[in-house]
Amino acid sequence: MLLEVNDLHVSYGAIRALKGVSCQVGEGEIVALIGANGAGKTTTLRTISGLIRPQSGSITYKGIAITKMPPHEIVGLGLCQVPEGRRVFTRMTVMENLEMGAYIRKDKSSVKEDIKKVFQRFPRLEERKDQLSGTLSGGEQQMLAMGRALMSRPNVLLMDEPSMGLAPMLVQEIFAIIKEINETGTTILLVEQNAHMALSIAHRAYVLETGEVVLVGPAKDLANNPEVQKAYLGE
Ligand code: ATP
Repeated sequence: MLLEVNDLHVSYGAIRALKGVSCQVGEGEIVALIGANGAGKTTTLRTISGLIRPQSGSITYKGIAITKMPPHEIVGLGLCQVPEGRRVFTRMTVMENLEMGAYIRKDKSSVKEDIKKVFQRFPRLEERKDQLSGTLSGGEQQMLAMGRALMSRPNVLLMDEPSMGLAPMLVQEIFAIIKEINETGTTILLVEQNAHMALSIAHRAYVLETGEVVLVGPAKDLANNPEVQKAYLGE
């Protein structure tokens, strides 16, 4: 497996957010972590990114232990997080945000090429390239957060709630783009409360409940699982 998360325990003070979470992501996969509010999905992603230190457990990427690595080194290995809730640099322009995404790269000469590619994927960003990011719509900010992450040339994208706060039409559009990004060779670990959308594009999924994995399997099987349907798909 490309990314292996083993028995993670994370607490915020007295709150035990993760109680032994394990999951794996294979090269080329889209893996979804679904579950209710507070299940521990975001905590899992942030621990993989190195933003939170687990009390115990291990994370390996391509066989390398990354559990104690600082976030920028983890990005340097090819794992990049697209944060939840439109966390773009609001006082910078679209172009500046994309340039920041390439900050850790050494091959500066190809950065311009990659900005072009981001604009091909997200034409709306090109139209707004000199606009301050704080003035973009929610959907555009989500696109920018994705574009900025792509600028680091990630091998794995860790996506936190890409559908959050977006109108249904835009959610469809964003998920179509996620699928396309995956098809062009990027592995994706996706955290979503919108289980329906997540299961529609994922190859495999994990269901988290109060800090534990309670179900895992091919996304299609989970989508047909009566318990999942009742709890997460509103059926
Ligand atoms: P959401 O979709 O609401 O983000 P989630 O599944 O991503 O939910 P987490 O955000 O990982 O869940 O939260 C897991 C648990 O840890 C919850 O009980 C939450 O209240 C708690 N928690 C998360 N962040 C903190 C924090 N910074 N300080 C204290 N408790 C936290």
